[in-house]
Amino acid sequence: MTLDNTSMIALLKDTAKLLELHGANPFQIKYYYNAALSLEKIHQAVGGLSPEALKDVAGLKPGTSKLIQEMNATGTLQRWEQLTAATPRGVQEMLDLRGMGPKKVSVIWKNLGVKSLSELLKACKEDKISQLPGFGSKTQGTIQASLAFKEKQLGKWHYASALPYATDLEAQLQQAFPDLLVSLTGALRRKMEITDQVEVLVGTTQVKSVIQWLEEQSMLQKKASFSGPFSWRGQFVEQPLQLTVLFCKPKEFYQQLILQTGSQEHLALPVGEGKLLGDLLNNIIAPCSEAAVYEQARLPYIPPELREGQIELAWAREKGTPQLLTMQDLRGVFHTHTTYSDGRHSLEKMAQHCKDLGYAYIGITDHSQQAVYASGLTPETIQRQHVEIDHLNEVLAPFKIFKGIEADILSDGNLDYEDEILARFDFVIASVHTGLNMDQQSATRRIVQAIKNPYTTMLAHPTSRLLLKREGFPINHQAVIDACAEYGVIIEINANPWRLELDWRWIDYALSKNVWLSINPDAHDKESIQNMYYGVCVGRKGGLTRSCTFNALSREDVMQYFEGRKNNHTLRP
Ligand SMILES: [Zn+2]
Ligand SMILES: [Zn+2]
Repeated sequence: MTLDNTSMIALLKDTAKLLELHGANPFQIKYYYNAALSLEKIHQAVGGLSPEALKDVAGLKPGTSKLIQEMNATGTLQRWEQLTAATPRGVQEMLDLRGMGPKKVSVIWKNLGVKSLSELLKACKEDKISQLPGFGSKTQGTIQASLAFKEKQLGKWHYASALPYATDLEAQLQQAFPDLLVSLTGALRRKMEITDQVEVLVGTTQVKSVIQWLEEQSMLQKKASFSGPFSWRGQFVEQPLQLTVLFCKPKEFYQQLILQTGSQEHLALPVGEGKLLGDLLNNIIAPCSEAAVYEQARLPYIPPELREGQIELAWAREKGTPQLLTMQDLRGVFHTHTTYSDGRHSLEKMAQHCKDLGYAYIGITDHSQQAVYASGLTPETIQRQHVEIDHLNEVLAPFKIFKGIEADILSDGNLDYEDEILARFDFVIASVHTGLNMDQQSATRRIVQAIKNPYTTMLAHPTSRLLLKREGFPINHQAVIDACAEYGVIIEINANPWRLELDWRWIDYALSKNVWLSINPDAHDKESIQNMYYGVCVGRKGGLTRSCTFNALSREDVMQYFEGRKNNHTLRP
């Protein structure tokens, strides 16, 4: 098996962590950490390269090259194998908890003999962790909170990791039975950011053959006790992702499709005469499409992603059925990183790639100076980058590179540069990366302060949450959106599948306040530009259309907007 660079880096870092856990010689630990860091700077795939070819990879040190050779030859590292064998599984899981480095885990393991997450929770509850040297009750509280968060996320998947399994299965079913009525349903069809299973509806008269086919698939594993004559339940073999396939008669398919797709809240929407939407659907006979079902129920058509029981009825009644945003509506890409900070690809590669994808412009936003961990840009580097952008703008014209920056919002709400430097950019994205454990009031005040800054053009990932990994910064969304409306600041929908915020539940409110939204990939390499797709999904869930999407504007309109904003800081879109 050939490992890709990302897997190699993870393996090297993991080895270093485990060495630290076992109290190994610091030089040895550093050897693996440094190898990981140096591989992060290599922008060429090294998996499968021969030892000779590795010699030609620029910037690769001999020590790192030796480790890569081992991973290429064996698909692993012997040192890692030894260390994982010598570390209880629960102890390795502790290493992944937020706020727990190898040193802390080692103290807990060695002093208390704690070897699993449940033992760790017990030790917290018995107040034993706070007594350990270097811990205290605050740390104990953090550990307990991350355990509770982890527990809550158990068995959950984020959209982007579950989707490929679902669409693959749907396609294979369709291929095996060309006449089958088949569709994803449930949370995944509604493009929910998190789901606990893949749900599929099949309309057929040959239930037995389809069930037999499911049972023959080596990628699936059946749970017989949960399955019945009209349902098949199990999971995918490769990942413990649950799967439910429900069967119905073909003539009931579209009615069932709505019943199986809508959230409980959607089906419980009052539709007049004391009836609920879900009950109303039961009386509709043999429709030929979902639109026909809604029509027979005298309701406007509601796109699947809106069926959450929130805004959809009012939305559809008021707006008819406007086209929700699509990928084709997007004209350009903001929020991208390059090798000037922590990106993997050069400025030129990122720009060229966007151009090749058919976009008319890119906004480059490397990290600002405070973000030392991400090689944030000093004023000198900014100067150098701007010279390169001017040059590339000549070469790539009419494609346009906008000069931007992702400026850290400091703890007092100021941006991470002097005004004189901020004035050099076409646009500034403000974002929080540090000090995430503020209370809601201070957190909101900090962000609103940054929104008021006349140089702030866009607000990035407002809470910095990482889905299923980290709870976000506790902001008052309404106050933040109101401030963006007042000061003409665009809010991004960060399309990184781990972030997906502005949360879709707030999009409708932002739109009601006339705030522009921008679908931003936050791309750290050129491949991640395609993450824009997940941002579009989230936008659609909130009822976003092209006319309210900033990066659906043409290059000329964006140029004009940035110019106008620079000349008149209070200008509203
Ligand atoms: Zn960021
Ligand atoms: Zn970023």
